[in-house]
Amino acid sequence: MDLSFSPADLAFRDEVRSWIGTSLPADLRAVAEVDGHFEHADVMRWHRLLAAKGWVAPHWPKAFGGPGLSPTQRFILSEELELAGTPLLSPFGLSMVGPAIMQFGTPAQQERFLPRILAGEKVWCQGYSEPSAGSDLASLRTTATLDGDAFVVNGQKTWTTYAQYADWIFALVRTDPTVKKQAGISFLLIDMKSPGVEARPMLTIGHTPAFCDTFFENVRVPRENLIGPLHGGWTVAKALLGHERTLIAAVGHSQRAMRRVKRIAASTTEHGRPLLDDPVWRARIARLEIKLQALQMANYRSLAGAALGHAPGPESSILKLRGSEILQQAFELAMDVMGPDAVSWFNDVGVLPELEQSVAPTYCYNRATTIYGGSNEIQKNIIAKMILGLPGT
Ligand SMILES: Cc1cc2nc3c(=O)[nH]c(=O)nc-3n(C[C@H](O)[C@H](O)[C@H](O)COP(=O)(O)OP(=O)(O)OC[C@H]3O[C@@H](n4cnc5c(N)ncnc54)[C@H](O)[C@@H]3O)c2cc1C
Repeated sequence: MDLSFSPADLAFRDEVRSWIGTSLPADLRAVAEVDGHFEHADVMRWHRLLAAKGWVAPHWPKAFGGPGLSPTQRFILSEELELAGTPLLSPFGLSMVGPAIMQFGTPAQQERFLPRILAGEKVWCQGYSEPSAGSDLASLRTTATLDGDAFVVNGQKTWTTYAQYADWIFALVRTDPTVKKQAGISFLLIDMKSPGVEARPMLTIGHTPAFCDTFFENVRVPRENLIGPLHGGWTVAKALLGHERTLIAAVGHSQRAMRRVKRIAASTTEHGRPLLDDPVWRARIARLEIKLQALQMANYRSLAGAALGHAPGPESSILKLRGSEILQQAFELAMDVMGPDAVSWFNDVGVLPELEQSVAPTYCYNRATTIYGGSNEIQKNIIAKMILGLPGT
């Protein structure tokens, strides 16, 4: 296995870096500089700039408007974007429902939905979880009953990130309550403007509001919005979750978080000396950087596998598990380095140094990384069963 980058890959990295250098608008760059919080409108502005360059969906095949990059180039592109701190694009259209429509949709559905996802014209959200169906997703109870040429949808989804902005939701619904749980589920695309859909934003301690409770009351959804076969939604859902997990390694975000930890430690003094010069703090920072480097190597290994044509297998659970833990630990360390400033808040403009302003809310929001995309306990079950060969629970 050769883990070094080829000259062509290194040239591609330079190209990406210089494009970001000239294309990231100045106001977004100012926010990126201090790892601040981007508004939804900023995220969509950046989406459209990347779309114009042809880089918004590096993993899409050329046939559907992707740029035809190799797996290594795709990785380099996303790593450079993360390292530059550019707005994080919503994954729901580009990385979840888009690939699902490519794999399971009809040509008419592909033509209707994919170009609008690419262009950033339509915003998507994910309607999987319900109040009693999270890890045990197959227990979902939202129903869709066929009535002529439409489904009638009733029920509640929860934790729906972005529902307050979304034009569309991809939802798992129960279309046959009489069979085994997994066998009676379908995958539906629902227009959020349909009568009977209501998204109620929830306030959170981190970014506000981050997600919604989404209610469906006698919502009519054209039958043509069904993706894959009727009652065949579980297969679509599982394919989509595989994509979700590999996204969560977020090595670039952790690297950037560590860079910020060091910058804060360099500017925070104790007894007249920067914390960064203190051997105890240096050792804590080094320990986490070593863990991060190990994760990066694991990420490169899965990349080398992808370059040989292997689909991401259960190792994506390792990346999700470690990536989410390390990101949390990096923000914990940042909070520790900040000391009393950590109890302050991001809108304390003028009170905290700019570099510290978004640390506390991001620390709070990042508690979620070990929950969403399948909680870490569930990832451990997958690793135990699929990789270590231990008996299932
Ligand atoms: C910030 C955030 C954003 C989210 N965005 C979305 C979204 O956009 N769309 C969407 O559909 N969902 C979303 N989710 C929901 C997320 O996918 C679920 O929270 C997650 O799947 C866990 O389900 P749950 O919250 O119902 O917890 P539960 O499944 O009730 O689990 C509670 C605890 O028990 C543990 N547990 C459960 N079963 C087992 C088991 N078999 N073995 C060991 N431990 C177990 C879990 O790990 C957890 O610690 C989001 C969640 C968060 C926090």
